[in-house]
Amino acid sequence: MTGHLVNSADSHVVEPLDLWVQRLPAQLKDRAPRIAEVDGEPRLLVEGMVPRRMGGGGSGETDQPERERAGDSHFRAGAWDPDQRIVDLDEDGVWGEVLYPTIALFGFMIPDPELRWASCRAYNDWLAETFAAQSQRFAGAAMVAVQEIEPAVAEIQRVAALGLRSIMLPMQAPDGRPYNSSEYDPVWAAAQAHGMPVSFHVGTGSNPVTERGLGGAVINYVEVGLGAQRTLGYLAASGVLERFPDLHVVMVECGAGWLAWLLERMDEAFEEHQQWVQPKLAEPPSFYVRRQGHVTFGNDAAGVINRGFTGIESLLWASDYPHPEGTWPHTQDTLERIFAGVPAPERERVTYSTTARLYGLQAPAA
Ligand code: MN
Repeated sequence: MTGHLVNSADSHVVEPLDLWVQRLPAQLKDRAPRIAEVDGEPRLLVEGMVPRRMGGGGSGETDQPERERAGDSHFRAGAWDPDQRIVDLDEDGVWGEVLYPTIALFGFMIPDPELRWASCRAYNDWLAETFAAQSQRFAGAAMVAVQEIEPAVAEIQRVAALGLRSIMLPMQAPDGRPYNSSEYDPVWAAAQAHGMPVSFHVGTGSNPVTERGLGGAVINYVEVGLGAQRTLGYLAASGVLERFPDLHVVMVECGAGWLAWLLERMDEAFEEHQQWVQPKLAEPPSFYVRRQGHVTFGNDAAGVINRGFTGIESLLWASDYPHPEGTWPHTQDTLERIFAGVPAPERERVTYSTTARLYGLQAPAA
């Protein structure tokens, strides 16, 4: 590789189609998340969710395994093969990646705790064995459901021992327990104790398709991104970030331009409505976001322009490999374009060193 070191703070694996059928306990196998024919069409079947059509609509992610099975992949083999993935990263000038799932993004929706937790653990085991154990360049984000707190804390401890370096919680908090609830404190404490950033990936914990009428495709894309503003607002304003000062939280694949608006909006309420504000944080909410909050983005000009206001360490660049809308194999050209005119030390923090520090993605000295 040549030039600047680069890390991607949001990349994806694509799970084997039979991962859960293979790995779930015998009594759960027939309820495993899987791809199956429904009315003659392949659908993603996850218990508790409406079967998702394969191909078109939504994030466009869930059709990929079926295409791969049909020999018509527009995903690279690096989506499931760690050796091929390293070849692709080297070709694109990317050193390390934070890895998120594809099918498992929907696993938070499973209503039955036994099936949900078994599905989380099966994915985390596969991710650790297949990627985390193969190279220091892969920082796996473990799937940790939070409908129940005790098993969530146990799973954080378990995946830390497996070598996974982050935990992924659903962007949409479980019904009846928003992220300002102190019931989550053991989760924040466990993540902080293990030095694991807590990630919230766009589109998790809720059905991403809410509007089917005119404008639906664009409206749904906007709506799903708003979850990041809500979640980060809850964590900052409620004092979670103040009480857990070494906890880092990352809003994944929601862009970055909105962050400046959120900081101003929160601080305005904090100062102008102070007679109603609880808790009385020692600093305005924006202080804690600048210290502990991060957003990933791929090609977001407004986010880069706002960096002097939001703080440079809030911004984490991401390739979204291997998605077709991601930057592979043109990452270097994309970076030249979106960081044109940005001083090299600032670019280096957004595209490499902040992610390196948060996720242990430091390249060995040459
Ligand atoms: Mn992503």
